[in-house]
Amino acid sequence: MKKHNFNSGPSILPKSVMQQAAEAVIEFNNTGLSILEIGHRTSFFMEVMEEARALVKELMQLDDSYDVLFLHGGATTQFMQIPMNLLDSDETAAYCDDGVWGSKAIKEASLFGKASVVASSKDKGYTYINKGFSVPADAKYLHITSNNTVEGTQYFAAPDVSVPLIADMSSDIFSRQLDFSKYSLIYAGAQKNMGAAGVNVVVVKKEILGKIKRPIPAIMDYQKHIEAGSLMNTPPVFAVYVALLTLRWIKASGGLAEMERSSIEKSSLLYNTIDALPQFTCKVAVEDRSRMNAVFFLNDSSLEAPFLDLCKQEGMVGVKGYRTVGGIRVSMYNALPLESVVAFTDLMKHFAEKK
Ligand SMILES: *Cc1c(COP(=O)(O)O)cnc(C)c1O
Repeated sequence: MKKHNFNSGPSILPKSVMQQAAEAVIEFNNTGLSILEIGHRTSFFMEVMEEARALVKELMQLDDSYDVLFLHGGATTQFMQIPMNLLDSDETAAYCDDGVWGSKAIKEASLFGKASVVASSKDKGYTYINKGFSVPADAKYLHITSNNTVEGTQYFAAPDVSVPLIADMSSDIFSRQLDFSKYSLIYAGAQKNMGAAGVNVVVVKKEILGKIKRPIPAIMDYQKHIEAGSLMNTPPVFAVYVALLTLRWIKASGGLAEMERSSIEKSSLLYNTIDALPQFTCKVAVEDRSRMNAVFFLNDSSLEAPFLDLCKQEGMVGVKGYRTVGGIRVSMYNALPLESVVAFTDLMKHFAEKK
């Protein structure tokens, strides 16, 4: 049966990317070797790394004041690597408590310095994005979660602040056009919108580095990774290659403008359907609704299990809400075709008619 993949992460990738990744496992670029068995310091792999780093900069339209790294570990590693590199123990960093992931970032930062929460939407179950809050002028940086994968909220305007802005873009990277030069550091785990699990992309403005007293273990030091061209130790070779294939696919499909157009089309269809059917409710503030992850509920919670059963029968994968939130979550990453959202909304309408 045809599957519609709404998984929140690891999640759907373009079919052509998986095809090419599979071929590279058998034989990489007529080398007579698999991508899994070539050295990371061979010209074959160094070209992969260089092209991937260059494509990130190109898609984000960033200049040479930025560097791009592909690093081990999920986004969770960045929760600690950021303060380790940027925050001395007697200094303060500002954090927005935007949801499950942001809260974890705050906890990790407080191991290195003072993590000051300047805005939180916890009072309403993280169903909105704070705007117009202020940040102490002496804060080393402000950290936000640009898209809240679990709660279904998204920033549609970067906070206007005078301190360096840092964003966890794990679940909306490369999904829209942004003025990326407003950010001093952007990071994302690859497995949601740009590839296979096992690698992070970190985009960093070089001028923010090298300003703290703390000694940093080499493997955690952004500056050392930059000097080594993101090849300080063996990188996750296969995951970097899958990210490159996805970046090429994004560019060939029309770049971030096309990703944005498609995600507006898909998410509008879903939210309009939720709002039109009295059986379903989305609690997220309308202006903050994520185009990547829609989180909503059946008003009669006893209908949730039968609805999820029907989804399963119809090949709709990954639509059960996050364990602490419940309800339904539909993730609409770049590679998800409109056709899948049409099938899902048809199923919602069909279910609502019978109830
Ligand atoms: C999934 C996710 C993370 C955690 O990613 P890992 O790769 O599992 O460490 C962090 N932040 C956001 C916004 C996420 O969606």
